[in-house]
Amino acid sequence: MEDTNARTFDTAVVGAGLAGLIAANRLADAGRSVVVLDGLGASGGRARTSLLADHLVNQGPHALYIGGNADQVLRHLGIPVEGVEPPTRGTNGLYDDRLHLLPAGPVSLLRTTLLSPVEKLAVGALLTRLSRIDPDPLDGVTLADWIDSVNRRHAVRSLLAALFRLATYTNCPELLSAGAALRQLSMALSDGVLYLHGGWQTLVDGLTTRAEAAGVVFRFDGSVTGILGDAPHLTIRTAAEDLSARTAIVAAGGPGTAERLTGVNWLTDTAGPAVNAAVLDLALDRPPEHRFVLGIDLPVYFSVHGPPARLAPDGEASACAVRYLRPDTDDASDMSRSVLGDLVTTCGVDPGSLLADRYLHTMTVAHGIPLASQGGLTGRPGIDAVGRPGVLLAGDWVGPDGMLADAAASSAWAAAEAVLAS
Ligand SMILES: Cc1cc2nc3c(=O)[nH]c(=O)nc-3n(C[C@H](O)[C@H](O)[C@H](O)COP(=O)(O)OP(=O)(O)OC[C@H]3O[C@@H](n4cnc5c(N)ncnc54)[C@H](O)[C@@H]3O)c2cc1C
Repeated sequence: MEDTNARTFDTAVVGAGLAGLIAANRLADAGRSVVVLDGLGASGGRARTSLLADHLVNQGPHALYIGGNADQVLRHLGIPVEGVEPPTRGTNGLYDDRLHLLPAGPVSLLRTTLLSPVEKLAVGALLTRLSRIDPDPLDGVTLADWIDSVNRRHAVRSLLAALFRLATYTNCPELLSAGAALRQLSMALSDGVLYLHGGWQTLVDGLTTRAEAAGVVFRFDGSVTGILGDAPHLTIRTAAEDLSARTAIVAAGGPGTAERLTGVNWLTDTAGPAVNAAVLDLALDRPPEHRFVLGIDLPVYFSVHGPPARLAPDGEASACAVRYLRPDTDDASDMSRSVLGDLVTTCGVDPGSLLADRYLHTMTVAHGIPLASQGGLTGRPGIDAVGRPGVLLAGDWVGPDGMLADAAASSAWAAAEAVLAS
């Protein structure tokens, strides 16, 4: 193996999740020498896919926003993005402990039993004009205030809150920026999402293989404990060794880690609280009765991801149930487990069809809620928020563009561009 200690890299990328892999590819394409370090033993971070009784499961349900930043960057890099849009037929809303057929689209919504005729018209009209609402003036308004301002009926507000929860994963409308939420829901409704064949691991593998072919060096043998010195003489410290680099991109998940590695203490407050979810992944020997259920007055969601995506052996199914957690939740883990167990029963999963399950009680979906109090997405920490020249940030809590993996991709790309420009 090459003695990487003796070498000075143009850039050290800390973290081999989607953000780190995207930044590494961009830099290597420009001819820069890059080392990517990750303590997890493999690349992928939260975009990894595992095997559960021969079924592929992501780290909780993952849908790629068509036309979003991640989709665009991946396609630009030539990474195959192969998947299928989830069918909207047979979608149900869970309200008042009962399932209500929830046909997709403003027009077919008129068939739902969830809303009164007046409420159907109100929701239909709103969804029809959603993409024409200018989100910019709403960046500093909370989603809760915005929903209150458009309709005061309980069922309508609950349905809107549920759709925003589904698109943003965020269960905190009193903090979330309405502008950020509107952009996200509008994109989801107009362009749709993809469930990926083979899971998000296909993206991870594509990006890793591409980076290796472009000369990126991967070090999976230890977490980084600090980034010391000043660019262009940075020392990247791991428990095992010190590496030298001229610049660094910290794509190590959340703001807490970035603070630890860079020695600053102002990132966590600006990023806002993390978006967390409790997740139950299921390997089933046959599809359940219902394929997609959205909690309307309960912050939950259930979806069979494979089929339609190729994730399970023929005739079998790969599904997940989610409970959207509030940032201030103090629920014990067994509470979420029991809520998800009830949800799975309501969705018609036959206990006899269960081959295996995996419960993840607090998954961090995104490392920051775009806060209305900070003006939404533009108030998030920027790629240069550390304030040390040559030390950049990337992740799903960084920069003014997008949410979830789209934010990770756009900030990674921007951080790489900033390094190239320096
Ligand atoms: C349940 C769930 C559902 C989701 N659903 C969606 C969805 O539907 N659509 C969507 O767009 N996004 C979704 N996401 C979000 C998406 O997975 C993330 O935004 C994206 O994967 C983040 O990539 P990242 O590289 O920024 O962070 P990560 O994937 O967290 O990668 C960070 C990497 O840094 C490494 N690391 C940490 N500390 C150190 C250190 N000290 N030294 C070295 N390495 C370190 C970690 O091991 C990790 O590999 C979901 C996430 C979850 C958990």
